[in-house]
Amino acid sequence: MHPVLKTLSILLLAGAGARVVQAAPPADAPLPARQAEIDAIVREISPQRIQAYVEKLAGFGTRHTMSETESDTRGIGAARRWIKAELERCGAGRLDVQFQSHVHPVAPRIPRPTEIVNVVATLPGTQAASKDRYYVVSGHYDSRVTDVMNATADAPGADDDASGTAAVIEMACVMARHTFDASLVFMTVAAEEQGLYGSGDYAAKAKAAGVNIAGMLNNDIIGSAHDEHGKLDNAEVRLFAEGVPPVKETTPALRTLLQTGGENDSITRQLARHVKETGERYVPGFKVNIVYRRDRYLRGGDHSPFLDAGYAAVRFTEPHEDFDHQHQDLRTEHGKRIGDLPEYVDPDYVAQVARVNAASLASLALAPTAPRDVKVRTANLDNGTDLVWAPNTEPDLAGYRIVWRETTAPQWQGAQFVGNVTAYRLDLSKDNLLFGVQAVDKDGNVSPATYPVPAR
Ligand SMILES: [Zn+2]
Repeated sequence: MHPVLKTLSILLLAGAGARVVQAAPPADAPLPARQAEIDAIVREISPQRIQAYVEKLAGFGTRHTMSETESDTRGIGAARRWIKAELERCGAGRLDVQFQSHVHPVAPRIPRPTEIVNVVATLPGTQAASKDRYYVVSGHYDSRVTDVMNATADAPGADDDASGTAAVIEMACVMARHTFDASLVFMTVAAEEQGLYGSGDYAAKAKAAGVNIAGMLNNDIIGSAHDEHGKLDNAEVRLFAEGVPPVKETTPALRTLLQTGGENDSITRQLARHVKETGERYVPGFKVNIVYRRDRYLRGGDHSPFLDAGYAAVRFTEPHEDFDHQHQDLRTEHGKRIGDLPEYVDPDYVAQVARVNAASLASLALAPTAPRDVKVRTANLDNGTDLVWAPNTEPDLAGYRIVWRETTAPQWQGAQFVGNVTAYRLDLSKDNLLFGVQAVDKDGNVSPATYPVPAR
């Protein structure tokens, strides 16, 4: 190493008080360490098992929320008992599998009080400082046909959303054989089609109990890479990620985001950045295409109640929806088969999306929590950036990494590891750049970034 560079890196690693840096974006950012365990998880995700799960779920005839619950072969009751049994079997004692239910009163799409049951499998974290931090991944196992109130017609719901349900079951079974610092919740929910009532109940109860859900990934319609004209696009997935939430009143947190040009730095966008960076690193050749919206145009999904509860939550969906193969009565029209049938689901594609999910969840649950109380000091007007934050409590913490980007850039462009300190000054202008602070553990696992708010 050139002596000047060596001196500079010593200064950079010296921590608080060290004067830094001539760096400007894009800098030569040190990448987080690649984890062999995450590579192993990605390899273990099986398209064959995913295909078997999709076919099994479609085989219950209908999984409509108001369908039959007594039969062992048909209807939503049989479907959820099978999902629970499968998770118990493959979890081999490591997954805590529960039904979580509520009786939903009559609503526009609920004609009579109906028990709505989620199947929730928890893999407890193994680090005391992290086990109360949860990451939730979900798919909905209910299905529908053209008439959303039709609870008896065959509704195979293969793409919408046996694909997401199968991905969640596969991830649970694979990841239960690994250990993580933080806790993972693998959830399949009901009543998505009737009004998001399964995920809504879970999110509301979590919020009321003060559960620390540090990120939620919803998988809904991830089964097909063909559009309605047959065009194949199997090397990408859409990731819907809200920026500013559509609240009626401006909250103080929202006002701070807007005042500081942080519309693109909500906790959900930080989660989306982390998922894109991690997913694309561990699933080469597959693109995570972030869409700056809560969901598809004016639509919603099971992540919406989590967003409304104040959690970071995103939605995975295939690149193009084929509306002939979702929410449709099974029939043939002009020689074309209409309906959400398993033959239109590509298990290799679902497996790729599941790998992106699993790599992201593993990375999040191995890493420390994102730093808290990150602030930028504003007492003096100058062209540098003084950041301060609260110390993390994980025993394996190595230190912190400051990341930055231009205000028009979507992903981080520069990064600098600053050691185990709780304050740092960069000679980079807060007027021109956006900053974030990440926590890094001794194995090189990196948290999502926290956006600094002004210290007042
Ligand atoms: Zn759906």
